[in-house]
Amino acid sequence: MVLRSVFALYQQVPNILSRVAVMMKPQVVFVLGGPGAGKGTQCTKITENYSYTHLSAGDLLRGERAREGSEFGQLIDRHIKEGVIVPVEITINLLRKAMEETMKADEKKFRFLIDGFPRNEDNLQGWSRVMDDKANVKFVLFFDCSNEVCIDRCLERGQHSGRTDDNRESLQKRIQVYLQSTRPIIDQYEKQGMVRTVDASHKVDEVFADVKAIFDKEG
Ligand code: ADP
Ligand code: AMP
Repeated sequence: MVLRSVFALYQQVPNILSRVAVMMKPQVVFVLGGPGAGKGTQCTKITENYSYTHLSAGDLLRGERAREGSEFGQLIDRHIKEGVIVPVEITINLLRKAMEETMKADEKKFRFLIDGFPRNEDNLQGWSRVMDDKANVKFVLFFDCSNEVCIDRCLERGQHSGRTDDNRESLQKRIQVYLQSTRPIIDQYEKQGMVRTVDASHKVDEVFADVKAIFDKEG
């Protein structure tokens, strides 16, 4: 009798575990660095090797801009072309929706790389207001790269990306926004011991070797 009960419980373990996963808060790694530092490239490699879902704030905004009937399309378009930061409510709603949809489709997918967020104080405060009790931020992965390398990579990418902001004029503004608005956010997290810095100026595989060491340690 006891044995049968133990066996029945044993059979339920996968179910119980997946229910625990449903109850899990999303586990988030923020991915930051200058434009073209290689955030997207490395996030793709992380998702191939670890159970993370990659959400790029920029990609979500570009998707919303392209969505037929979007009330924010034009506003997003103007901000992206200018290289300035889109109002936080729009970005957080897109992130939250993407996380919810991912977890609804597969309850085991509760680990997220959020790439290109939080980019400024407004983003950070918005996250604290809306998401602090809904998600855990594990650490901040920072791709450190000189402005020159960032600009060269974006200009190269611009030859085939079709992006409206991979040109010298937009890049000047994007680098300024990065230095003035995003670096102070990285510094704040650094003071809390939450930043894991990777030298992003090396080759893709060399950068990934450093990234791998971080994820092997931190999970
Ligand atoms: P981000 O997401 O930070 O804007 P991407 O990952 O899109 O940057 O990379 C920008 C461009 O630089 C892409 O064309 C990509 O192929 C290239 N790239 C990324 N990482 C490296 C690297 N370590 N060395 C050389 N080129 C890179
Ligand atoms: P990216 O694809 O990360 O290079 O971002 C491209 C552009 O999208 C930026 O220059 C901003 O205009 C916009 N953007 C990306 N991330 C954010 C964010 N977190 N908050 C607001 N705007 C953003």
